[in-house]
Amino acid sequence: MVPDGMGLAEVTAARIFRFGSAGPSLALETLPVIGLQRTHSADSTVTDSAAAASAWAMGEKFTNGEISCHSAADPRCRHQAPTILEMAQAAGKSTGLVVTSVISDATPAAFAAHVHSRRCAAEIVRQYLEESRVDVILGGGLGRKGDFCPAYPVSFEWPDKRAALVELATEKGYARVIDKSSLNQAIKENKPKILGMFEQNGKDRGKTAELFRIDAFLGYPEKEPTLAEMTAAALTLLERNRKGFFLLVEGSRIDWNNHANDLRGQIAEVLAFDEAVKTVLEWVEAEPARKEATLILIAPDHGTGGFAITGPEGRLAQAGEIIDGAWAGKGHNATDTLLRSQGPGSQKLAKTLDNTDLYKVMAEILGY
Ligand SMILES: [Zn+2]
Repeated sequence: MVPDGMGLAEVTAARIFRFGSAGPSLALETLPVIGLQRTHSADSTVTDSAAAASAWAMGEKFTNGEISCHSAADPRCRHQAPTILEMAQAAGKSTGLVVTSVISDATPAAFAAHVHSRRCAAEIVRQYLEESRVDVILGGGLGRKGDFCPAYPVSFEWPDKRAALVELATEKGYARVIDKSSLNQAIKENKPKILGMFEQNGKDRGKTAELFRIDAFLGYPEKEPTLAEMTAAALTLLERNRKGFFLLVEGSRIDWNNHANDLRGQIAEVLAFDEAVKTVLEWVEAEPARKEATLILIAPDHGTGGFAITGPEGRLAQAGEIIDGAWAGKGHNATDTLLRSQGPGSQKLAKTLDNTDLYKVMAEILGY
């Protein structure tokens, strides 16, 4: 589970908003094993999400912008080693990607595609459907960006790319879902593969349910599933496989709100992510066998903005209160990020690691 661009102070700010300075913990704070990871990429002290997620997915350092592909060695990425998701699939497990950004964004892409640039959105989705054959894909629809990718001369051009990919998905046996009710229907009908590209604007530029709650704004599109609801749906679909599953869940827009130095948005997105963590923890707790067999790993890919809490001083902030905060800037930063985990392999995560080490721990519990 990836809270993209989330530093430690962001957790404190969200917790205080939810419960007050002296209140209980968020769900994500209850994971018992704590570690740290360094995040630099192959070419930069400060990483981007593409290189960071590729390091987790492949166990090697990549250059910023690369999606599980060393482009200097092979710009078409024909001969790459498998990602951790592809290894899980090869071991007979089911696989899923659940995000609040567009489904082709850098973090999910690094687990299920190999391309020289994160901008290759259409090619990334084609690889999800045809190459890595991810079982459950839930997130925002394809945006307008990301089509400039001369290394992959796909046979269709924008604006028809989206339609062509939907057609390809149907051909490959995916049930296409577009809102909460069609998602529920697909679960009820026990569909083997699901592609959910939800309201494009809702996920591209819009708000999550949590942000609307903060604003006390009632216009949130009821039809749009929250991150927690998409996560619950994915668990229901993936747990049908008795051999288990690999699932990536990303709170994609904690990063975006830190880039914008938007404190309300940042708090809302951390809380939306925490709801998804709560969903996973409840699923795991429901059966002892699940708890015994499931590694849950919460790992921010990097910090964004360098956020710090500066007040209030001299009194305790109450629930519902937005603390005083400040950012050091608007870009990513190189501060180590906090790892939280539980389950098999988690004891190996209780120290300072490199982001490539997470791959090793995941690969080991997959039996590689
Ligand atoms: Zn970012």
